[in-house]
Amino acid sequence: EAKLGARGTAVRYSPKMQDALLEKRAIEEELREALVKDELALFYQPIVDSRRGAIVAMEALVRWRHPERGIISPGVFIPVAEQTGLIVEIGAWVLRRACEDAVAWPRHVRVAVNLAPKQFHQADLIDTIATALDDSGLDPDRLELEITESTLISNTDDIQAKLAKIDALGARLSLDDFETGYSSLSYLNRFPVKKVKIDQAFSRQAIESPKTQAIISAISALAKDLNLDLVAEGVETQAQLGFMASKNIFLIQGYLYSKPRPIEELAPLLECWSDAPRLESAA
Ligand code: C2E
Ligand code: MG
Ligand code: MG
Ligand code: MG
Repeated sequence: EAKLGARGTAVRYSPKMQDALLEKRAIEEELREALVKDELALFYQPIVDSRRGAIVAMEALVRWRHPERGIISPGVFIPVAEQTGLIVEIGAWVLRRACEDAVAWPRHVRVAVNLAPKQFHQADLIDTIATALDDSGLDPDRLELEITESTLISNTDDIQAKLAKIDALGARLSLDDFETGYSSLSYLNRFPVKKVKIDQAFSRQAIESPKTQAIISAISALAKDLNLDLVAEGVETQAQLGFMASKNIFLIQGYLYSKPRPIEELAPLLECWSDAPRLESAA
């Protein structure tokens, strides 16, 4: 099979590429329907202050409850949604639902929502956020919006203006999956970012790799100087938790505390991890 490529040259699709293409088309079609049929659901994963054992926020992580294939993870369908532009509709739905859900939680628990780079290309992104806040009645200060370095590096006037508007709304910007790949932390003071989430890969290597340990130390020191909150993602073991604490990193998101859970399973978490001082420290 040959098809015309971008410059009019024939592009050969290998059977494998064709499969991938068909798979993508199939996901796209089904995903469009899934939105209509209300098959998307939000799971939430706590972000815990390890000093107090208190939940400070919950990250909304979208899932697709597929009628035949069961729960599909965002790693499978978010990339397709980004390529097809469907992420704009999905993103708006996630924002609205997350704000509605969070209103019922204790006041000190924020909700974190991921924003895809494509959503920043939408003229109405700020309206979408403001409407989700207004309609739900959620205090803007309780909404964290997670952006990635790929949004920041495009660094156009338009992106800068949108970030400033989000900040002016009172919502809080976090930089997700921070890896020191494209930007340095010091570059961050150009943007109204309040929090940085260091990538899971760092947590995974924190115990074995002295190089990773040095990078985490440097990030921690810089975050302190720049007055940024720092979250370690993907913490699965006590050893990793202890290492992060030794570097003054106390905001922790990871399986050690909890996997992402459906909303029905949050109530017990929110109850037992209240913000009240713990008995032993209150005595
Ligand atoms: P993310 O925003 O970096 O979210 C954290 C991911 O790390 C989640 O995967 C979470 O389940 C996983 N994780 C947290 N702690 C651990 C741990 O201790 N061990 C391991 N192995 N994994 C851990 P999930 O839910 O599969 O989401 C993957 C990615 O999909 C997210 O990464 C985010 O980039 C994207 N995503 C999810 N929901 C949305 C959404 O509503 N909108 C957009 N644009 N992207 C989303
Ligand atoms: Mg995130
Ligand atoms: Mg992340
Ligand atoms: Mg990630």
